[in-house]
Amino acid sequence: MPTNAELLSRRADAVVRGVSHATPISAARARNAEIWDVEGKRYVDFAGGIAVLNTGHCHPGIIAAAAEQMQRFTHTCFQVLMYEPYIALAERLNALAPIQGRRKTAFFTTGAEATENAVKIARAATGRSGVIAFTGAFHGRTVMASAMTGKVTPYKKGLGPALPEVWHVPFPVPQLDVTVEDALKYLGFIFKADADPSGIAAIIIEPVQGEGGFHQAPPELMRALRRLCDAHGIVLVADEVQTGFGRTAKMFAMEHYDVTPDLICVAKSLAGGFPLSGVIGRAAIMDAADPGGLGGTYAGNPVSCAAALAVLDVFAEEKLLDRAARQGTQLKARLEKLRSQNNVLPIDAIRGLGAMVAFDIVRERGGSEPDAETTKRVVQTAYENGLVLLSCGTNANTIRILAPLTAEESIVDEGLDILEAALAC
Ligand code: PMP
Repeated sequence: MPTNAELLSRRADAVVRGVSHATPISAARARNAEIWDVEGKRYVDFAGGIAVLNTGHCHPGIIAAAAEQMQRFTHTCFQVLMYEPYIALAERLNALAPIQGRRKTAFFTTGAEATENAVKIARAATGRSGVIAFTGAFHGRTVMASAMTGKVTPYKKGLGPALPEVWHVPFPVPQLDVTVEDALKYLGFIFKADADPSGIAAIIIEPVQGEGGFHQAPPELMRALRRLCDAHGIVLVADEVQTGFGRTAKMFAMEHYDVTPDLICVAKSLAGGFPLSGVIGRAAIMDAADPGGLGGTYAGNPVSCAAALAVLDVFAEEKLLDRAARQGTQLKARLEKLRSQNNVLPIDAIRGLGAMVAFDIVRERGGSEPDAETTKRVVQTAYENGLVLLSCGTNANTIRILAPLTAEESIVDEGLDILEAALAC
């Protein structure tokens, strides 16, 4: 097998620069929360392929369900010949989603397709085109999704004009000194300066910003958005691509709120490593687009749908929501201990819903000035010592933890030991 260095060099020659890489490691095989590279070195996985592996790598039940479907057929295109796994998965998600009234679902392939299609559906239902999103948000890299993404570098800079009629409201983050009042005031300015609410089709929000730094949308913001959407006939879209599927110790992060969205975008951990995304929503809104307006050749691939049905079974059988809550408690307790230690770098703002846990690396103990370079170094030291770790955040100084919810407590502890060593100062 080629070495990591050989593959990195071949990649540099053959693959575009625009596709970045967090580590120089090439995977050979993986099981639950462990990965082995092409040189046989073992890693604890705190990244889960960016929130895709809440059920771990190669869960036997999910692999078996996918393999069984592969023996039958791998593709028909749902618009040509339908198949039960797509329909059964839509039925199960409709029953689970925290959305008022009757629900319907459409499947796609990527998270960006889910957010793009949520906008198309909202536009079809309202006959309007405006979209409100938030600073720091991440909704994907396709043209509409990146227009909604609230971060210029690296997602928009030099990549051409953003689509019109997308406005960003500051997302409330204590570390950035933005309050709910600031956000609502700014939204009021947009309604006065740029677009009347009667021209807005959708407000899209992540209940917990993922790439933006694991900041939770305050309940009073969500309530205010719901009120505004009701008052002006705007569709409220929850982007649960990263928060979805049990990460926050509820199946959907919107279950932590006392208001419900109209549409929910799902992807990532939905299908345990197979490409699948979807939009679940109020039936009257979801049915607004005419036949042929939604879908795609691979959208709702049967192998991915079979895997997703198995993911739902694994959640129930292995009580993964309880395990997410326990993992969150385990992570936060250890991070709180690290914060009080003098032999590690200064860390701050330990936060998280369920097992969606993060903290910031700052320049001084007790301070809040972000330290992006040190954060980068910590991620590098971690993988050199056998832990795959990701950073995120507007200031690139947040370490986020996305370990499989199926990870044994001892593996999570092992990962935390490596993290502690990487934070040593
Ligand atoms: N929305 C959110 C909240 C995400 O975290 C992501 C991916 N990080 C996306 C959308 C886009 O998903 P994909 O990369 O599958 O297009």
